[in-house]
Amino acid sequence: MITLWHGLLANTAIVALVIALWSNVRLRVSDYSPRVRQIGFGLLFGIGAIILMSLPFQLDEGVFIDLRSTMIAISFFVGGPVPGMITAVMAALFRLYWGGAGAPIGLFAISLTSLVSFLAYRSRKGTVPSLRESVLLSAALPLVTIASSLLMPNSGFVVPHIQLPVVILVFVTTLMACLAVASELRRRQVEQTNHVYRMAIDSLPEPLNIKDEQGRFVIANPATATLLKAESAEALMGKTDFDYYPKEVAEAFRADELKVVESRVASVAEQQVHHLDGTTIWLSTLKAPLVCQEGGLFGVITHNRDVTDRRLLELALAERDRNAVEALSGMSDGMVMFDRHLNLVFCNERYRAMFSVTADLRVPGTAAASILYASIARGELVGIAQDQVGKWVETALSRLQQAGTVQFQLADGRWIESRTRPTPDGACFVICSDITDTKQKELELRDLNDRLSVLAETDGLTGLLNRRAFDALMDEEVARVEKGGGTLGLLMIDVDRFKAFNDTYGHGVGDTCLKAVANCLKATVRGSLDHAVRYGGEEMALVLPDADQETALAIAKQFCESLRALKIEHSGSEKGIVTASVGVAIMTPAMPGMDANRLVTRADEALYVAKKEGRDTVRLWEQPKLRVVQ
Ligand code: GH3
Ligand code: MG
Ligand code: MG
Repeated sequence: MITLWHGLLANTAIVALVIALWSNVRLRVSDYSPRVRQIGFGLLFGIGAIILMSLPFQLDEGVFIDLRSTMIAISFFVGGPVPGMITAVMAALFRLYWGGAGAPIGLFAISLTSLVSFLAYRSRKGTVPSLRESVLLSAALPLVTIASSLLMPNSGFVVPHIQLPVVILVFVTTLMACLAVASELRRRQVEQTNHVYRMAIDSLPEPLNIKDEQGRFVIANPATATLLKAESAEALMGKTDFDYYPKEVAEAFRADELKVVESRVASVAEQQVHHLDGTTIWLSTLKAPLVCQEGGLFGVITHNRDVTDRRLLELALAERDRNAVEALSGMSDGMVMFDRHLNLVFCNERYRAMFSVTADLRVPGTAAASILYASIARGELVGIAQDQVGKWVETALSRLQQAGTVQFQLADGRWIESRTRPTPDGACFVICSDITDTKQKELELRDLNDRLSVLAETDGLTGLLNRRAFDALMDEEVARVEKGGGTLGLLMIDVDRFKAFNDTYGHGVGDTCLKAVANCLKATVRGSLDHAVRYGGEEMALVLPDADQETALAIAKQFCESLRALKIEHSGSEKGIVTASVGVAIMTPAMPGMDANRLVTRADEALYVAKKEGRDTVRLWEQPKLRVVQ
């Protein structure tokens, strides 16, 4: 039989050995399922319990003890129900095999220990056992041992001086075992967390690395090795950027890192990186200080993102934008685009130069309405009445939303033509052209045409309407009267004895005289209402729209008087001065069959009567009186 101390040492050694075995025999997690690992755990502690039961030590005369309960408790408390049950069953079977009168009590003690430690396992809820939980379990176990032994009337445990060492022994051993196991569990937890971190870093497709304060790689993932064109992540350990980049690049990186180290502030930068093999990439680099729990600086953590593709795309886009802007700037036309809310989106320089007074507003973001109001307020756009500005702007804005062409003149005299083309999404393009030259030519041409048409209808000598214009005018006026539009008066005027005037004073003076007669006629008309005409030779006519008989006669007489008042000497005439005879005819709507020719004939007939009855007089056409023939 082994002595107390030998047995005690042997028992604690076995406990320590089993825990050491559990801690140090590392099974690769992925090689075995959790169930197999649990069974292994239970078996290990079960074997430990059997060995302990084989090495009981004597506390007193007939009082033997071993630390099996510690094994069973740890198995339940740490491993859970499955390992715990395996350990407990193994211990129980061995106890049965051992036999003796104490067997039932032993089995009872094993069961009670199992129950208590299972409850302890449940209470820790999967976390690493705390000191409090370990102490409670360690305190419960000796009580279970003593309580069980008391069931055996002849056991030596009734004696207090036996109970105290048992309590202390089981308590201390279990507590030590619990603390050792908890420490190992904590270590495993940290190891597991580290493993997950490592996997996460290694799986990152983007380069992530940590360097120490001297810039040496401490941790790097495979993506970092790929970026640096290194053999592997392990190969980077202890190396610096100087081993993988050209000197100036590495120096720039180091300077950035030192800045982060000094300021302890993270920085993000986008940079172009040249490799030793001549290749170039763009990286978006985040550098952050890595601070230890104690507050000291460990190094710098660097995360890189290869943004070469995006950067190249941006450069290509910028190049294309530049080309487009250059092309648009070179356009002789101004170009502007408004979005669907009629805010300016884009315009070329030509457009801004075209509207220089409001160029400051013609920039992206400005509303078309603001530009128009400012253009009016600053006097760039003219010809818009003060009280019409709002309406005008509204119309201009609505025009921007439909295809069309508008021409307008600026205050400085330039003419602009704007062609609007809406896009399907509600935006619109407007092309503005300076059409000043074209417009001026167009206006000159129009002016020339007007003058030509005036000339075509004007008599060259007197400036009165010519015969062609007279014919057209008469057709119009007659048609108007026929439609029930009032009356029409016609005066046919003939200078008296004009052949004699020419013969006396010469043809040139005759022309001058005709001009004087024409001017006299022009002065007699009622503003722009009446039309004076040179009918032919020294014969003239006056067309009097809406003139009734009295008015027409009054005008005719006034003309004769005015001409007489000129007192143009005419020695060839019985009057001694230039005079004229006038025949008057009137057309009213109640004259069926009347037309321009008949009206002229009537006026001519009246003129003939005036000549016959002494000249320098006015006669109205009258219906010939019927002569009665017997
Ligand atoms: P009466 O009083 O009956 O009208 O006599 P008259 O001499 O005026 O009539 P007549 O028709 O015989 O003569 C018209 C003259 O007018 C003949 C022509 O030489 C002259 N005459 C016609 N056209 C012009 C013209 O453009 N310039 C000049 N100077 N004379 C013209
Ligand atoms: Mg005549
Ligand atoms: Mg005449």
